[in-house]
Parts: sequence; C-alpha cells; structure tokens
Amino acid sequence: MSSLEQTLSIIKPDAVERNLQEEIKKYFIENDFLIKDQKKIHISKNEAEEFYKVHQSKPFYGELCNYLSSGPIVVMILEKENAVLENRKLMGATDPAKAEAGTLRKKYGISIDKNSVHGSDSLDNAKIEIDFFFKS
Ligand code: UDP
Ligand code: MG
Repeated sequence: MSSLEQTLSIIKPDAVERNLQEEIKKYFIENDFLIKDQKKIHISKNEAEEFYKVHQSKPFYGELCNYLSSGPIVVMILEKENAVLENRKLMGATDPAKAEAGTLRKKYGISIDKNSVHGSDSLDNAKIEIDFFFKS
C-alpha cells in the first residue's frame, strides 16, 4: 500500500559549507520528491539538543548537537508517495562508508557524523520534526 506522505529533510552543515545544497535539492526533485517548503537557518545548540533529544543518552549526543548548530543548514518538507521510506533509501546508511552506491550519503558524506543529510525515520517523527521547524 502506498500513501502520500511528508517527511523532514535536513541538508547538514558539512554539505551547506561545500555548497552542495542545490545539487542535493536537484537529486530529490529528479527522484520525484516535491519540496513543499524550505528554509536556510542556523540553529542554536539548545535547538539542536531539542531536535536530537531521542539521542540524549548516546555517547555522540554532545558532538552531534555541536555539529548541527555549527553552521547553516537547509530544512525541507519533502512530499512523495511513501516519502519517509523513500527518503531514507535515497539517503543511504548512516555511515557513508556503508551506504549503497547512488545514495546521498555515499556521494557526499564525509564520515558517520558529517553525513550530509538527515531524514525522518517514521511518519510520526516526520510530523514532529516538520512541526519543530515549520510550525509558526
Ligand atoms: N551519529 C554519530 N555517530 C554515530 C551514530 C550517529 O555522529 O555513531 C550522528 C550522525 O550524524 C547521524 C545522527 O547522529 O546522522 C543521528 O543518528 P541516527 O542513528 O538517528 O542516524 P540517521 O537516522 O541519521 O541515519
Ligand atoms: Mg535517525
């Protein structure tokens, strides 16, 4: 079964810093995602901590929050049939070294922490994450 979904995508600081945002957006569009809304922002460490709070018990949490707030990011609402899973497929594995050929993380990721893109991991989290960045 398929259904039209929205998911949250983030182009992370390492990719924005290398001016990859237009190339990454083009890749989403070529893969039939609709970019319903987007903005370039620079979040605070507190906001990063709130966004990634599911990971607060992980050893990499502090570094992860420092990193996400270290420079501008592009946040996007992506729409497609089965957008959550389709985006995860297009992103590839968390560790770029383990990501399949043709995925964004394989193409652009530098390391397991600087892996260029974020994508919601479930429909419930997609709603929460979209609200986090786009609810006024
Ligand atoms: N991360 C990290 N070290 C790790 C695992 C994850 O720095 O060992 C970072 C990485 O940037 C990842 C983010 O934490 O994208 C969130 O981790 P998660 O397991 O949710 O991976 P994702 O859903 O992004 O693939
Ligand atoms: Mg995740």
